[in-house]
Amino acid sequence: MENDFPAAALARQFPLLVARPELAYLDSAATSQLHESVIERIVRFYREDNATVHRSSCPMGSEATVAYAAARKFVAQYVNAADATEIVFVRSTTEAINLVANSWGRTILRPGDEVLLTAMEHHSNILPWQDIAKRQGAGLRLCAITAAGEIDRDDFLQKLTERTKMVAIGHVSNVLGTVNPLDELIPQARRVGAAIFVDGAQRVASGPIDVQRLGCDFYALSGHKAFAPMGIGVLYGRCPWLKTLPPYQLGGGMVDRVSMDCSTFREPPEKWEAGTPNVAGALALRSALEFLRSIDWKSYDHHCASIRSRMDDAVRSLPGVRILGSPEKKTAIFSFVSDRVHAHDLATALSTKGICVRAGHHCAQPLHAAYGVPASCRASFSLYNAEEDCDRLIDGIRWALDYF
Ligand SMILES: *Cc1c(COP(=O)(O)O)cnc(C)c1O
Repeated sequence: MENDFPAAALARQFPLLVARPELAYLDSAATSQLHESVIERIVRFYREDNATVHRSSCPMGSEATVAYAAARKFVAQYVNAADATEIVFVRSTTEAINLVANSWGRTILRPGDEVLLTAMEHHSNILPWQDIAKRQGAGLRLCAITAAGEIDRDDFLQKLTERTKMVAIGHVSNVLGTVNPLDELIPQARRVGAAIFVDGAQRVASGPIDVQRLGCDFYALSGHKAFAPMGIGVLYGRCPWLKTLPPYQLGGGMVDRVSMDCSTFREPPEKWEAGTPNVAGALALRSALEFLRSIDWKSYDHHCASIRSRMDDAVRSLPGVRILGSPEKKTAIFSFVSDRVHAHDLATALSTKGICVRAGHHCAQPLHAAYGVPASCRASFSLYNAEEDCDRLIDGIRWALDYF
């Protein structure tokens, strides 16, 4: 299956990939490379525009404030939020989850309530819920996954009850690449009155996002998984939540009036952004999303399908190697194990050939436990990876298996 997605042409827009042509970079699920427009935006901000927002009276200050507000508006349009005030700039997906788990959790969760997660969640979408559930005397349920690496729909429906107050679920698995059927699961969660948190860390670089169509309450993403820098992320929160929940962090920029016995807070989004924000990061994220807006996702889906059939065919010819999961809908993330060579040895061998994959549990130990393996090797393809990278990976695995 060939396709005409311009992966090789896109790769030329990523300075690191141009500087290291010897690499097959297949670790974008851990962090993606930065698009040239993103790097240029960061450099321009620090060389010409550096100032804090809200407070500065120098010309750069008001320009930074305007640009920061425009970046927020752009993000809101990109994810189709109803209003820019529903977009909070955070450090990362991890921070967004901690924010919601803490602020929502201590307000809403009561003894006997439950939070429902799935066995394919990233640790970032498990630990904050585990902690708040424990502190509030609430329960944590884990929905099973099938051998194919999909959410077990029967188990989901069985564990979804009147007690479920929150369903926290990944949009795309960082290990299996599974694209979860949120269109189906979210309405079911709604019917029992649960709030819905979507971890979109792996979605943002692999498909469009429409929070209103999804009907979720919260949606989180990280810039560094989507061609922007580390240290910037987004939390989308529906207006009633962001207005009524108590702030997660307190400090400058988010208060209305402060006296020694009582302080009042500003309206969202400022209420949620205590301290000096990462202005350059927000502007850079906007540039990354501008780039992403130019992507033809239909064509990219075909590209992922083409990579997948190439991977599946090739792996079948590799003795003792299997790919974890085979979900119907997935992006180009492949975690594989060999029955003979340890994942870490495989990854180290591949790296000597310039093939960048990752070995370990990929912050998803419950998922690896479900497959009965402690670790796997993960190759994650992104917009800039062509079929050639796939062929190099396969040749590399074949060579490594012979070597060990
Ligand atoms: C990477 C990742 C996270 C955590 O993102 P950070 O940027 O490290 O906060 C959470 N969930 C998924 C699915 C991820 O892939």
